[in-house]
Amino acid sequence: MVQSDGEWKKKYFDSLGDLERKEKHWQSVESTLRRCISRLSFVGDGMTPQLDDRLEQLRNRVRGEQDTRALLRLVEDIAGRAGQVNATQNGVAASASAESFLSQLLEEATLPKALAKRASKLIRELKRSPAPPESVKAAKALLLEALQSVTTGKPGLMGKLFAKDKESSSQADTKSRPAGMSPVDGLPEARDVFVSLVDQLASAGCGPLELRKLADQAGRAENQQALDDLVTELVKVLSDTGETAVQVAASLPPVDQVLLQLVQRMDISTDQEPRIQSLKTRLSGGIAEVDIPPILTELLQLFEHARIQAEEERQEVERFLLQMTEQLQKLDQEVNGIGSVGTQLADGQRRMDSEMQSQVSHLHATVQQATDLDELKSTIAERLNLIQDRLRGHKNETEQLVQGFEQRIDLLTTRLGDMEQETATLREHVEQARVEAFTDALTGLNNRHAFDCRLEEEYARWNRYEYPLSMIVVDVDHFKKVNDTYGHLAGDKVLHVIGAHLRRATRKVDFPARYGGEEFVILLPEVDLQGARTVAEKIRQAVEEKPFHSGESRVNITVSCGVASFRKGDGRKTPFERADEALYLAKREGRNRCRTEEQIELQA
Ligand code: GH3
Ligand code: MG
Ligand code: MG
Repeated sequence: MVQSDGEWKKKYFDSLGDLERKEKHWQSVESTLRRCISRLSFVGDGMTPQLDDRLEQLRNRVRGEQDTRALLRLVEDIAGRAGQVNATQNGVAASASAESFLSQLLEEATLPKALAKRASKLIRELKRSPAPPESVKAAKALLLEALQSVTTGKPGLMGKLFAKDKESSSQADTKSRPAGMSPVDGLPEARDVFVSLVDQLASAGCGPLELRKLADQAGRAENQQALDDLVTELVKVLSDTGETAVQVAASLPPVDQVLLQLVQRMDISTDQEPRIQSLKTRLSGGIAEVDIPPILTELLQLFEHARIQAEEERQEVERFLLQMTEQLQKLDQEVNGIGSVGTQLADGQRRMDSEMQSQVSHLHATVQQATDLDELKSTIAERLNLIQDRLRGHKNETEQLVQGFEQRIDLLTTRLGDMEQETATLREHVEQARVEAFTDALTGLNNRHAFDCRLEEEYARWNRYEYPLSMIVVDVDHFKKVNDTYGHLAGDKVLHVIGAHLRRATRKVDFPARYGGEEFVILLPEVDLQGARTVAEKIRQAVEEKPFHSGESRVNITVSCGVASFRKGDGRKTPFERADEALYLAKREGRNRCRTEEQIELQA
């Protein structure tokens, strides 16, 4: 009993831990959202002085630690004002504000001298009405060039765009920091900025494979130096793709794409699924500028909802814990009470024994001292009556004690029964919460968090026993095209179906998970490289052979796979990197195929 209580407590605390992790996840989504709002709010600048005022307020608020509700009110207010402005300006505002956004960026950015001249000419052109379209393109290209100043360590455009406030942008001067220093203040922020930039470029179609690899590496960058090197690498990759800066800048994703990506990253409970779906549909249908504020409001509300829900879940588990503790205390008192019945019985018995002994010695004395038979008879009769009374009294006392004891046992049995029932309910509840925290809502597979936990366990086991352990990375081919052609809902359905294929193709001991977006990963204990390759091939074939239908149209979906096995000296993440490289090889060689780490080595 006591031991299983301990186990349960541990489980409750574990589930509290899961909830905390969820909360952390939400905090990071919130900060992305805040950054996103801050940046998007520039779009509305320059429409009317009042709106400018409000937007400035919004920017200040999202930088500070204001609570979400206040933010929500402000966004709603702005939505109203923006609506009024658009109604009066009859849509002209949409393009005008994009140009004023660009010219404002150029004005605010600290540009290298060589660029500054070109910038001021462009600013003049952008302020003309209407601004020539070539100037817009040229301005975007110039901004991209300015990005390269990050490599020189000067507080460049990125600092301006993403800095939390004016002071922190000047702190971005990397030269004042010793190279190779362990994590610096604000590095996660810089890393996020880098990753989000690379993501945007990748989804704009420039060198997506190389760029995604860079984003992965950036996610692991430990110090500023590593990040700076990656920026240099990024510039190289961009020039290697043979695209001109103008092309790259012109293909940067529009606001709706950025928002869509944000929605796809949201891990919201299934009861909000319809809201999420309708948001995705709205976003993938293309949005007008006037739609942005209400959509942001909706995002914030969803976010607020998820936060409240996580908080409620935590409170509920805490309530359960408290109830359990109270019940256990009561039980403890009962058990102590029962223990004391035994002591009382033993005391009564002892008293009885000594009384009997004294009565018997009295009788003895009476008999020896007696001279008269009649007197002896009456004294003995008297003593015997006394003894009989005492015996009766003792019997009653004992019976009462035993009766009380039985009642307590009954009570205890009922309480235990109640507790067992409560525990069973609680167990279900905790299990449910646990399953949800580790499950991807769209595919029903394990999520990335679950995968990371399992990888840690399997890695420890592999380190000890060195049994075969393999990994397959699966990525949907040209998935962006599927979304673009058939819509995001169809895209989601495809992911769901691929999840089912993965489950079907793997065994119970294997561990398939959705790693993120349209990428899946499978961990295969006790399976060597060739075995894993066979599984990967099975999955690839299954997906290829089962066409997907969207309405009347038949959609052919394929996946590419990269396979790797753990090798002596490997770190926890090394095989994943090799599997990812093998995946890139599969993509390079035409997609819809599986490649292993051995094939990379053969190529080299
Ligand atoms: P490649 O063959 O090189 O992998 O091309 P790709 O188009 O599949 O790769 P890319 O990384 O360019 O695009 C991935 C797309 O997946 C972009 C993103 O919008 C989409 N996506 C990510 N997560 C989801 C999701 O949850 N639902 C839907 N419908 N689409 C998603
Ligand atoms: Mg893909
Ligand atoms: Mg991908």
